Amino acid sequence: MSSLRELAREELDGIAERSLSRRIVQTERLAGAIVKRDGREYVSFSCNDYFGLTHHPEVIAAARSALDRCGAGAAASRLVTGNHPIYAELESLLAEMKGAERALVFSSGYAANLGVIPVLVGKEDLILADRLCHACAWDGARLSGASILRFHHNDVDHCRSVLEAQRSKYRRCLILTETVFSMDGDRGPVAALAELARAHDAWLMTDDAHGLGLPGVGDTGADLGMGTLSKGLGACGGYVHGPAEVIEWLANRARSLVFSTGLPPAAVAAAAASLRIIRNDEELRRRPAENARRFTDALGRAPAESPIVPVIVGEPDRAMAASAMLQENGLLAAAIRPPTVPSGTARLRFAFSALHQPEPIERAAALLKEHGYA
Ligand code: PMP
Repeated sequence: MSSLRELAREELDGIAERSLSRRIVQTERLAGAIVKRDGREYVSFSCNDYFGLTHHPEVIAAARSALDRCGAGAAASRLVTGNHPIYAELESLLAEMKGAERALVFSSGYAANLGVIPVLVGKEDLILADRLCHACAWDGARLSGASILRFHHNDVDHCRSVLEAQRSKYRRCLILTETVFSMDGDRGPVAALAELARAHDAWLMTDDAHGLGLPGVGDTGADLGMGTLSKGLGACGGYVHGPAEVIEWLANRARSLVFSTGLPPAAVAAAAASLRIIRNDEELRRRPAENARRFTDALGRAPAESPIVPVIVGEPDRAMAASAMLQENGLLAAAIRPPTVPSGTARLRFAFSALHQPEPIERAAALLKEHGYA
């Protein structure tokens, strides 16, 4: 048997040969969609801070005040002593925003899916998921022990035909989709899937990680929804919302909630402050997708459906080259490669924020066209 170090080296060599190495690069995030790497500043199109709230003065003040009052950490699981009163405030804001009876906050969106899905379904059940659902949906699904089937991306007819052929073999059935797909930026057919779920005695659960606060995007009709506090809200944490009894059941059974320390109070307070800001600012909520449309217009493409725009270039090395070209020009757009996206669809993923200015958006589009990437 090889030593652990040798094994790691072999594995890393294999990853590098396929141009799939990932490196955690030190990056300092500054205000205004700017990041600093190796002493140089870049306009970043790779942060999910859609409304620019990570550096908003009210959000920072709320986090600071919670830090001063409640300390740096929660010190226990929420079911023990880690449930500071500001959790209840955040959960009622989330429930209100979602039009749901209750919401429950987890330590991340990832933890929410890992915790929630195995409570809802198990060995005798079926999970039917859009093939482009996020990794944490698949991981939660696997952990549940349920049978897992995929339907073609955003294809309601395919989902229906799988249900017609398979539904009767299982006890419960859970359908999974996203409101806004994380790597493609298109929207899931939530209303149509909700109707399908009702017709086939199934439940629909949506992932709204990239949709929260965007005008016209929502999870109305779904039986249950989850999302994150770490993207549009600029804080950290995850949540699920739904009927009161379901949320109570999850609070009793979701292992990633029961057996994990609560979020730091500062993160909870920051998320609550962000929710208050977006709730009252329709103009701010419109801006990320408007910036994305400025980009798709400049590229001569169909208008963006959300703040996320992929520029698909094919193979991983080509995506790395495109990303490096932009970086030389002061623009940061990370290359997204398999297994995050299907093979042959390596891409630059642009995430637009309310804070982006027109000039770098148009320059990014011009550079991509000039170099033959778009
Ligand atoms: N769902 C989707 C669609 C996501 O993109 C992400 C984050 N990458 C998550 C869930 C997980 O959220 P978090 O970062 O809070 O763990």
